[in-house]
Amino acid sequence: MNIILLAGGRGSRSENPQLPKILQEIAPGVTLLDHWIQLLGKQEFRKIELILGHEHQQISKHLRQMDIPSEMEVSHQIDNRLSGTSNAVLYSKFYGEQSLVLMGDTLSFLDYKKVLSGYAPNAAKAAFLAHKNSHLFDSDSVELSKNGECLQFFRKRESNGFDNLLALTGGVLLGSEAWKALSELSARGDIVHDLFSVIPLAEIHIAPFVGLSMDCGTPGRLQKARNLFSFWSTRARFPVVVLDRDGTLIPDLPQGRLPESSLFIDSRDALAIASINETGVPVFMTTNQPALAKGWITFSDIEGVHRSMGLELAKYGAWLDDILFCPHHPEAGHSGEVPEFKIECQCRKPAPGMLDRLISKYQLQNCEIWVLGDSDVDREFAWNTSANFIRVEHGGEPSLAMGLERIMRDWNCE
Ligand SMILES: [Mg+2]
Ligand SMILES: [Zn+2]
Repeated sequence: MNIILLAGGRGSRSENPQLPKILQEIAPGVTLLDHWIQLLGKQEFRKIELILGHEHQQISKHLRQMDIPSEMEVSHQIDNRLSGTSNAVLYSKFYGEQSLVLMGDTLSFLDYKKVLSGYAPNAAKAAFLAHKNSHLFDSDSVELSKNGECLQFFRKRESNGFDNLLALTGGVLLGSEAWKALSELSARGDIVHDLFSVIPLAEIHIAPFVGLSMDCGTPGRLQKARNLFSFWSTRARFPVVVLDRDGTLIPDLPQGRLPESSLFIDSRDALAIASINETGVPVFMTTNQPALAKGWITFSDIEGVHRSMGLELAKYGAWLDDILFCPHHPEAGHSGEVPEFKIECQCRKPAPGMLDRLISKYQLQNCEIWVLGDSDVDREFAWNTSANFIRVEHGGEPSLAMGLERIMRDWNCE
């Protein structure tokens, strides 16, 4: 797969406007460009092309001085018109070939081959790498169905209140038809908008990812990126946090139902989740919901609780990257129960099913997993999957916030 790295951006909002964004230092002596070449090289991408624009001489000079591994072929083109990302990609010599387009002013630690595994060359005209973040209002985003299909595209600042939106900031994989569509446009601007305007939603794939991929376009974001660079570049294993729901993030719900009072998440817990979210470490939730098998609640009741939870967390800039629940219960014989859910399943904690699903969906093999929960079931669940466990209690001590802070301390990341 080819990589096209868009590096034409003017650093007008950055701390040194004379410097192209991709030449900003992310660590002493390490530019974003150095990091990109190292990251992509480690992932065995061999053909990389930069599309330059603003201050292109500085970048080509830097490229000549770089120590690029001999097996990598790094070329560049110059877009003199500087007229948007849709136009910029058309300068690439990879025109027409399957290529992954990445934004050069992003700090990323994503494993692109893992994120895109399953997206065969012609399975989709275009596949967007998308994730949850706290600034959906300044990202283009997409609403997904439960099965991962695109339901609706939102341009910057249009999105509102949905808690199942993913920001389209991770890059885009162009298939041959996407190239054709871009070349035939009468006016070109932003590659995300343009592709969504010409390709039917049903033919666009979304590749959800977790992990760090952040824009470094402003001095504040660059500073944050520098802190996170030292965090991620010293990590031997990718950390992951998995929370229990009832008794952990929210109180135990009587018969699985949400009480009338809406304040059910402690603000300190929400802020602690937001701090973890900020680092790019994924925070998942796994929860047993046997009340469903018992016939006390329905799927839409559970979705309602999760929607309220998402909206409440969003007030603090926090989110859950994914939520899995087990609707089953093993012992049959109660009135009103749902027979098809009265089974011995592989997903009811402490069985490892839900964690196994997260691992395969997000390619989390060899991760350092931290489970936080209020019961022995959670502890056993963690042990069954060789994860670390921290016992916490909603409304008690240690609280979820204290557990999360302990993890942050352990990571030297406060
Ligand atoms: Mg619990
Ligand atoms: Zn189950």
